[in-house]
Amino acid sequence: MEFYLPTKLFYNIEAFSAELDKLGEKFLIITGKSSKYNGSLDELTRILNKTSKKYEIFDETKENPPKELIEKIIEKHGKDWDVVVGLGGGSPMDTAKAAAVLCKNNISVEELYKSQKYDSAANIVCIPTTAGTGSEVTQYSVLTINGIKKGFKHERIFPKLSLLEPKFSLTLPRDLTISTGLDALSHAIESALSLKTNSFSELFAFKAIEIIKETLPKLVNDLKNYELRKNMLLASTYAGIAISITGTTIAHSLGYSLTTDKGIRHGIATAVFLPFEIENADNKNSKKVRYILGDMLNFLKKLDVQISFVVNDQEISKWAENVANSSHVKTTPGNYNYEKIKQAYYWLIEKSGIYRG
Ligand code: ZN
Repeated sequence: MEFYLPTKLFYNIEAFSAELDKLGEKFLIITGKSSKYNGSLDELTRILNKTSKKYEIFDETKENPPKELIEKIIEKHGKDWDVVVGLGGGSPMDTAKAAAVLCKNNISVEELYKSQKYDSAANIVCIPTTAGTGSEVTQYSVLTINGIKKGFKHERIFPKLSLLEPKFSLTLPRDLTISTGLDALSHAIESALSLKTNSFSELFAFKAIEIIKETLPKLVNDLKNYELRKNMLLASTYAGIAISITGTTIAHSLGYSLTTDKGIRHGIATAVFLPFEIENADNKNSKKVRYILGDMLNFLKKLDVQISFVVNDQEISKWAENVANSSHVKTTPGNYNYEKIKQAYYWLIEKSGIYRG
């Protein structure tokens, strides 16, 4: 298939709530603590109270949701839900997707990765309050299973409905604005370079790169600017649509270990490998990325991106093995094997100028 997006997207809260009303009577809201402060949780409960829906709130989501978290939600709130709402950044949305499948199937969290084991899920609704993951328009959910960050994919976890409301991201601090913005940029660039790219994914990917290039450097010095927030949310949704077609490529796979083992935020951990990926892609689209964005390393430096962690050769070998076993290798141009993957890590540490040991 070239293009499939079954998610209804809304800007307008009242129009969104009319659609939400049709999805069911019982709502499980999955969120973190920040939705209490950015106005999004109040807005959602106001809508649900107006139509006397039954709802419960789980507000203990964590970054890089581990499988134990999903199990805890089901244990605490049960499975009898028509709708599971993911409210927040990528973690609550991805957690909601996993929980929605478990609500309708007697399977374990590990079995979410065996797509033939299930063909149903509770209705999924996403309300992003950051501009980064694009989870509001994808069939992906990334969880952490036994210390390894890995995504699962299923047509049934496309959200039925998503609300794009930029005002919820107005209170996002500078560091999270940068890391989530760079996640969106990674999605767009990795999609553009992917061997699975098509004319639809390219349309969304290149538009997202264009917007992020213009918007993100301004936004980091003007965090309360509604127009800039709106542009970033739009760009991250475009980038999400692009990866719903192509998936992500090697930079995501390389970054996962930096996040799980060294606590580097997902968007940063991924974006620092983009210069290497672009350089090694060396095809028509990598030239176009350069033409639109300029030099990727300069873009990162302009945003003051630096990372520091302590690592040894043994760890790098283990990380490289994980990447070599990931599906991303097959869709990335540049013939990545174990040695070349290791080279990417050593490039970051020894040559990029971003790494401070
Ligand atoms: Zn990502």
